[in-house]
Amino acid sequence: MAYDPDNIFAKILRGDIPCDKVYENDHVLAFRDINPQAPTHILVIPKGAYSDADDFTARASQEEIAAFFKAVGDVARQEGIADQGYRIISNCGHNGGQEVPHLHIHILGGRRLGRMVAAA
Ligand code: 5GP
Repeated sequence: MAYDPDNIFAKILRGDIPCDKVYENDHVLAFRDINPQAPTHILVIPKGAYSDADDFTARASQEEIAAFFKAVGDVARQEGIADQGYRIISNCGHNGGQEVPHLHIHILGGRRLGRMVAAA
């Protein structure tokens, strides 16, 4: 999928719209989801222009990929949900149900979560 520079997370990265930031480094930004589905619901995004997990794993550098996944664990520990456990999800493309076309991993925690995939 071609990257859309006007997607909402690109605007957050540019500072055009605000976010509730919880973590940032050279490669990664993490912020709270505007419509949380669990007591802790954080989105981790790469700063590079990657539309989804397919695009990222095809084009990103080893450094970007390592920094991204490392940030997911760092954020979970920082938010105090790692000991009790949590779920990470990345919806990819149409069948994955992705709404915002900039790669993001959802971190969900703070309560016992239900089934991973709802019945269709
Ligand atoms: P997707 O369905 O693409 O995997 O998830 C997109 C997520 O982005 C949704 O959970 C939605 O609540 C969140 N979201 C959409 N717009 C905004 C926004 O402007 N700010 C924040 N913080 N989250 C957003």
